[in-house]
Amino acid sequence: MEGSLEAPTRHVIPWQDEAWYDEAALDAELRRVFDICHGCRRCFNLCDSFPILFDAIDESPNEEVEDLSAEQLASVVEACTLCDMCFMTKCPYVPPHSFDLDFPHLMLRHRAVEHRKGNTSFADRELAKMERNGKLGSMVAGAANWATKEGNALTRPVMEAVMGIDKRAHLPPFLDTRLTNQAPALVPPPNPDGPAFGRKAVIYAGCHDEFNDATPGLALVKVLAHNGVKVRIDHPDCCGMPLFENGDMKGVASAADRISAHFAPMIADGWDIVPLTTSCALMLKFEWPLIEPGNEQVQTLSKHTFDVSEFIVALAKQTGLVPIAEMPAAISVHFACHARAQNMGPKAMEMLRLIPGAAPALTERCSGHGGKWGIFAENFDRAVKVGKPAARNLMKTEPAIVVSECPLAGPHLRQVIAANGQTPPERIGHPIEVVAKAYGL
Ligand code: SF4
Ligand code: SF4
Repeated sequence: MEGSLEAPTRHVIPWQDEAWYDEAALDAELRRVFDICHGCRRCFNLCDSFPILFDAIDESPNEEVEDLSAEQLASVVEACTLCDMCFMTKCPYVPPHSFDLDFPHLMLRHRAVEHRKGNTSFADRELAKMERNGKLGSMVAGAANWATKEGNALTRPVMEAVMGIDKRAHLPPFLDTRLTNQAPALVPPPNPDGPAFGRKAVIYAGCHDEFNDATPGLALVKVLAHNGVKVRIDHPDCCGMPLFENGDMKGVASAADRISAHFAPMIADGWDIVPLTTSCALMLKFEWPLIEPGNEQVQTLSKHTFDVSEFIVALAKQTGLVPIAEMPAAISVHFACHARAQNMGPKAMEMLRLIPGAAPALTERCSGHGGKWGIFAENFDRAVKVGKPAARNLMKTEPAIVVSECPLAGPHLRQVIAANGQTPPERIGHPIEVVAKAYGL
């Protein structure tokens, strides 16, 4: 039996149902799914989870999933970054196929069971407290950035010993003024002659945009205002992606409830919601509705949320844009996993093609970073290994500019490019920065 011909669907995540946490049932489901994967093996080169699984089966006494220990099953889960690529790009057996296979959400279920048993590591729990960490880091940005910089021989070995954070991994520096405190003075009024005058967009700044890198946010407000869009930037809270990675379902549901309540009056008043970070957009559009299916505000928010590139491309079609100046440049575009997982096609490519003379080229491979997963000592070498094909492909055309919609993938890919023996570009930023530059903003 081969793949389903119907459009893939995803089930509601029954995290409030006790049966979901039944360990015997989970073990049986892992073995059922892993056995299907053993017979299929399409995903052999997507990440490290599948090679770990296939090697374990091949080296087992009877070459059967039944031979694997619980620890071997867990090692497959631990290597998963929840990038969603197996579900989105490879698997022919996703629902409504009768095999009913959703590999990433099965990994999530395993993590949720472990989280409820108190087995989430100290470092994973502390790093997921994004608001606290961001506020503290911004308050003491100078000292924090000195301490967290790779190459600091005093602090980074200690961080590796205490928190398990690999001393070679890039950690994002903190802004001393968070984006929403900078923004009021920097958000231009809407251009009354812009073709999109009358449209309103709230930019949802994710934690990285708010506390670590204001560049994409400031580029987006300028591009939108220049085209007539009325803009505001909000950061009501973290979207909960790091909690999701930990399997902390209650924490994610709480974030979904609070943030959707924050945006509800604005949506009623005609504002569109544009998250700056692809992972946040994925949460708002696709994961939250499966976690809080009974919350109307969550469901409404998912329908009014647009990824940055998706929003600009839609504006270009619906209202037109102020003409962009010619900018001949070879641009390598990393198609981040959580942009791909939004099932909207490579919108960054479409957006960059709006720039006359620009020649964007797409790289559809995972950077290997996987949220906070890639910074841990036990994962960093794997994160570099997984990212190498993407890094090689990005540099193949000797591009003038390299971009990624994922703010964590960009700096990680710079490290992988260097590991490949090439000189990385000065910055791998968001594609919206290129549009702002072409506009001369
Ligand atoms: S979600 Fe990504 S990392 Fe996890 S198993 Fe699938 S492809 Fe691998
Ligand atoms: S997730 Fe699907 S496509 Fe990938 S190995 Fe398993 S069965 Fe095959």
